[in-house]
Amino acid sequence: MATSRCVVIGGGIAGLAAADALERAGSVEVVVIEEGAAPGGVIRSEVRDGFHVELGPFAFLSHAPATMEMIERYGLMDEVVTPSPAATRRYLVQGGELVAAPSSPGAMLSSPLLSKRALARLAAEPFVRPVATDESVFEFMRRRFGREVAEKLADPMVAGVTASDCRQTSVAAVFSRLKTMEIESKSVIRGGMAAGKQRRRDGEPKHGLRSFRSGMAALPRALAERTDCRFGVGATSLSQKAGGFTVTLSDDSTLDADSVVVATPPDVSRRLLGSARSGFSTFASVGLRALTYGFRRADVRHPLDGFGCLLPRSEGIRPLGMIFSSSLFPGHAPEGCVSVRVLMGGSLDPGAVTMPEGEAHAIAMDALRRCLGVRGEPLMSHCATWAPAIPRYDVGHRRRVATLQATMPPGLVLAGNLVAGPAVNDCIRDGARVAAEVLTNLD
Ligand SMILES: Cc1cc2nc3c(=O)[nH]c(=O)nc-3n(C[C@H](O)[C@H](O)[C@H](O)COP(=O)(O)OP(=O)(O)OC[C@H]3O[C@@H](n4cnc5c(N)ncnc54)[C@H](O)[C@@H]3O)c2cc1C
Repeated sequence: MATSRCVVIGGGIAGLAAADALERAGSVEVVVIEEGAAPGGVIRSEVRDGFHVELGPFAFLSHAPATMEMIERYGLMDEVVTPSPAATRRYLVQGGELVAAPSSPGAMLSSPLLSKRALARLAAEPFVRPVATDESVFEFMRRRFGREVAEKLADPMVAGVTASDCRQTSVAAVFSRLKTMEIESKSVIRGGMAAGKQRRRDGEPKHGLRSFRSGMAALPRALAERTDCRFGVGATSLSQKAGGFTVTLSDDSTLDADSVVVATPPDVSRRLLGSARSGFSTFASVGLRALTYGFRRADVRHPLDGFGCLLPRSEGIRPLGMIFSSSLFPGHAPEGCVSVRVLMGGSLDPGAVTMPEGEAHAIAMDALRRCLGVRGEPLMSHCATWAPAIPRYDVGHRRRVATLQATMPPGLVLAGNLVAGPAVNDCIRDGARVAAEVLTNLD
């Protein structure tokens, strides 16, 4: 079979996963064009003063077969790190105190966070009629579990995944598993319990968060090593010609291709694809700040015996949440020290991303003092600013993405977290869909 060429624009995890799937198909020569100096996009890991710093994602969930299979194929299984068993608890700040949050729909039934009235309403969840259409996460939670549960949990749940407004965010796009359970099991609580039982029956290990010994960047680095990646040169324009496409690069050179995968952030994709794709104007992105701190263990009163804590807006504390990084992955801090990551910004607080870094540090440190009893100054601090960081997945997102994709000519495929979903796992899984679309066009 003749070899055809596919140019992948963007060397983030979505572009690299698409390149990986295409290369495995064998009949396509793949070139990845990455504007930055390194692969991975927002996935960046550094070590500062002995503390491990993740600038973007800090972990992935191990329940995704495509991710685990990729890790295995790239020989990274021994590099995977599992959270310490002590770090499974998630906290929610309520009335200024850290209270353990329910870890599953079933666990909500015994949660101290909820009033007796809310628990009684929750018990009625299996009898609530399923609704097939998309709705906001807040509306989904209110309808199925009652207003109190929605008011206490929907906001921090969404903030922890997409940093967006739970009253705008699509449940189908961001928490598709909950929607599937509603439709298939007629109840989220029943569906969650059945899935747990099935997993135990099959002898499957309990899934959870994972990272790599040297940080999240280990995966894109491994993918890029086996791919023809050109770093430090960006795509400036894309044009269609007879039988293919021409990509113009920032060094004024051009690349001809039979097919092109556009895996750049949405604002760049919009520019590259041009005004013909008017559907793009319906998408927006949110900015985020990830601030990482290293402290002496003795300078933090809270035992940090968990995953982290979410901060509902109603508490009047500006950051979205905190991750107890070194409790999850003990190798993230030197002996006798701990590290905590604070997330700020999102769709409801864009000012937290544009304010001077010093101001953001002051707000984050104030929250750490109030919530975790931090004393003194940190041994290490770092601020990563992502503006924009993550697309907004508003209600109807999937339908709008489908409309946009329908406007693409054959051979031009849109990838990235806008279409795949917000998680690293979503972007990896979508690689197979992207490759299939490219290959279909070649037939
Ligand atoms: C602070 C933060 C924390 C997160 N935490 C988690 C988490 O814990 N777990 C999780 O699963 N997900 C998390 N996410 C989400 C997840 O990391 C992202 O959704 C995912 O990595 C996006 O991958 P991508 O390839 O679509 O985009 P990107 O990573 O943005 O990659 C796009 C690439 O395109 C390149 N590019 C841009 N313009 C051009 C051009 N003109 N030519 C060539 N290349 C170009 C960019 O340099 C970049 O490398 C987090 C995201 C952020 C920002």
